[in-house]
Amino acid sequence: MKIAVEGCAHGELEQIYNTLELIEKRQNIKVDLLICCGDFQATRNVNDLSSMAVPQKYRQLCTFYKYYTGKLIAPVLTIFIGGNHEASNHLQELSYGGWAAPNIYYMGLASVINVGGIRIGGISGIYKPKDYMRGRHEKPPYNEFTKRSIYHVRQLEVFRLKQLKEPIDIMLSHDWPQGIEKYGNVKQLVKYKPFLKEDIKEGKLGSIPNRELLHELKPKYWFAAHLHCKFAAIVNHTPTETDEKEIKITKFLSLDKCLPQKRFLQILDIPHDDSKPIDLAYDLEWLSVLHLTNHLLNSNTNIYYLPGPSVDERYDFTPTDEEKTTVLKMFSNNLIISNNFIKLGNYKTKTNPQTTKFCNTLRVDDPFALVLGHWPGYSLFFDKQEDEDSVTDSTYSSFLNSTVCSNNDNELNETIETTPKTQFVLPEPKNDTVDINTDGESLLNNFNIATANISTDESKYEDSNIKNNCTSQIFAEENSTNHSPSKKMCLKRRNYLNMNDNDSE
Ligand SMILES: [Zn+2]
Repeated sequence: MKIAVEGCAHGELEQIYNTLELIEKRQNIKVDLLICCGDFQATRNVNDLSSMAVPQKYRQLCTFYKYYTGKLIAPVLTIFIGGNHEASNHLQELSYGGWAAPNIYYMGLASVINVGGIRIGGISGIYKPKDYMRGRHEKPPYNEFTKRSIYHVRQLEVFRLKQLKEPIDIMLSHDWPQGIEKYGNVKQLVKYKPFLKEDIKEGKLGSIPNRELLHELKPKYWFAAHLHCKFAAIVNHTPTETDEKEIKITKFLSLDKCLPQKRFLQILDIPHDDSKPIDLAYDLEWLSVLHLTNHLLNSNTNIYYLPGPSVDERYDFTPTDEEKTTVLKMFSNNLIISNNFIKLGNYKTKTNPQTTKFCNTLRVDDPFALVLGHWPGYSLFFDKQEDEDSVTDSTYSSFLNSTVCSNNDNELNETIETTPKTQFVLPEPKNDTVDINTDGESLLNNFNIATANISTDESKYEDSNIKNNCTSQIFAEENSTNHSPSKKMCLKRRNYLNMNDNDSE
């Protein structure tokens, strides 16, 4: 499968598709999938611009609206995650993923999907410690604080991703996993982006939750954007006790934003199961985790804690076979994501029918509908008989029961909703550890990650930079990797609030 990876799109969708078309003609190939790593800017109309946290000069409609309105059709199946410059009101309608336009699928706050048998996980937004442990309280019209906090990563999405035990092929994030620079050519990075030097020196560059996910999920690939430069790295994971003998590696690649002369696009040739059509399908393990953790959803500004080993409730939500079977039945044994894009009328805040259908099928709450007050909470949706049929009792307890620990946020007073405070238990903080691979740079030399230096200026285009088969040698070495699921518990807690706020926006 030919996969095109894009760094930040920044609304230049038409330009990206034009570049892809050029590559296809020159290389006589057909790109099957386009992946965009955030700052997608899915602005449908001028009203959406007001929800985007960008300086005035960048507040432009750009080209997404052409695909939303049907004026243009995306020529290739496109998936994307959110970054820190988004039409957040649009994306908030699709918290669990959905079609933003025909053939253009947003992966939601976090999710895992399957494309032609390739398992792709993603997490939207960027990490800011101050909002990490809060609920999803934002709703339009956003104020100057919520316009930014809405795209800050929350602990629940990370917690959910950490429940996954089946191997991930590709992981997507907008900001980089913290410390990833140590596994690549850091000198070159600093030369290109000198302002990163201090953060690198202090070990603060990148997202802490993404670092944790990188070392726990150990995906074959990790694609990111945000820092507007091309950077490749090879992470040679330190085997854990539960890992099989073979060492797992992650090939990391971050690309630039879509501008002439920038390295913003890369074509990878990734083997996939030819027997499967290249269409989108839900991921059963992910759906099951989502279903099992619905009661942990929280829609207020307060800091709250998720269950861990020190509390007397379930905290391991890796689904059992039985739980997965139950969820599969909810979807009538068919996980194909139907093309049910619906263009909504402009200028009105409303829930999206795609999300409503998804949530009703999986019996989970729509976070956006909850915060708008349009959703009673799933526990109220079902009668007693249906509750008895549920996988677990906790599944249907609503966000209203979420544990609230403190409320120290002054800046968001405008949107604070009164929430009943309940008893809580603070888990023991644990020290964090980072795998340090001093051989990262030498490995890079050996692995020859496929690099495409695509330019929108045709005269600068270099055919030699696109090698359709340049990744096959990497995969050949990976074929022997054993992906037995790790049984290690991964629900470590850390004091995120004390971490420095080190991501640029
Ligand atoms: Zn960007």
